[in-house]
Amino acid sequence: MSEYTSYDLVEWGEPFEKRYHELPKPTGVEVLIKVTAAGLCHSDLHIKKGYMDLGQEGQLRFTERGAKLPMTYGHEIAGIVEAVGDDVTNVKCGQQVLVYPWLGCGDCLACQDDRESDCMAMRVIGLKQNGGFATHCLVENEKYLVDIEGLDATAVVPHACSGITVFNALEKLGELREYEWMAIIGCGGLGMNAIAIARAKAFKNIIAVDIDDAKLDAALDMGATKTLNSSRDDAVTELQRLAENNLMGVIDTFGGAATAHIAVRALCKAGRYVIVGQAGGDFQMPQVWLTQKAMTVRGSHVGNSPQLRALIDMVRAGKIKQMPIDRRPLSEINQAMGDLEAGNVTGRIVFDV
Ligand SMILES: [Zn+2]
Ligand SMILES: [Zn+2]
Repeated sequence: MSEYTSYDLVEWGEPFEKRYHELPKPTGVEVLIKVTAAGLCHSDLHIKKGYMDLGQEGQLRFTERGAKLPMTYGHEIAGIVEAVGDDVTNVKCGQQVLVYPWLGCGDCLACQDDRESDCMAMRVIGLKQNGGFATHCLVENEKYLVDIEGLDATAVVPHACSGITVFNALEKLGELREYEWMAIIGCGGLGMNAIAIARAKAFKNIIAVDIDDAKLDAALDMGATKTLNSSRDDAVTELQRLAENNLMGVIDTFGGAATAHIAVRALCKAGRYVIVGQAGGDFQMPQVWLTQKAMTVRGSHVGNSPQLRALIDMVRAGKIKQMPIDRRPLSEINQAMGDLEAGNVTGRIVFDV
């Protein structure tokens, strides 16, 4: 075979198109992966639109950041090693691997410190480089591959994005005392994994928050202690009541004005608000609360490669409850995007390629 197939974005906002490419031959430390599973992430919706909502600052257009079309998106990628460059020593053909997609520039101090996700010039696979909505994906260095031999690729592939994103956020949130509570806002792919990983990290008192009762039921199954439908008018006081007036942490996987409104009001004194969602708009709160409520407001962006390896070790040890996976063929990518945008997905859509 000398050709491979992908579903590419050719124009911003338009459906993905099936395209054919010449199959690359890996050289040096490059590795060619035959993709078997590719997860669909909420940020793929933002990517498809071509911009993010910066509130009063307008829009962040990806073209202004150097994005070029056509491009193969998809940053949750797992598969089988099909070919390797001459200098590859740690992976071999036939091995099942998960791709760490959050590549940095490779040169800055953050990158040299294995904190690629803190790099200011990221070169993400499935964003700046061709990604996983394809039969094949070329990875520039074997060091970005994590061994998942013996695991179900479709089940673990979301950990490359949704998993390490919340893993990182939970580390930033820090430990809670026995009597303190945390809320996880948004029970999509990120939120579901946040509950599973929080349980694995020994967080006990977890309130799942969403506007969809079906997702809240799924959150209870994942291990949430209590749930709150935040579409009710008294969501702030109800969240405080459920948390026994000890809401010390919030992980916000939605990241919009409405969820920030609830979080900064419901948190108790010295509370910590960690935002990973990127719904967009303007973040607003009375600034004096930062002092008087001794509040921490903190963003967290994806995660680094040591965190992904630690997370996969936890999966292997059976510590992470599997979130629901909605398996679909890659040829149905446009339908899947529509369902995700409409909120009709429980857990994560993963394409069997
Ligand atoms: Zn993602
Ligand atoms: Zn860097």
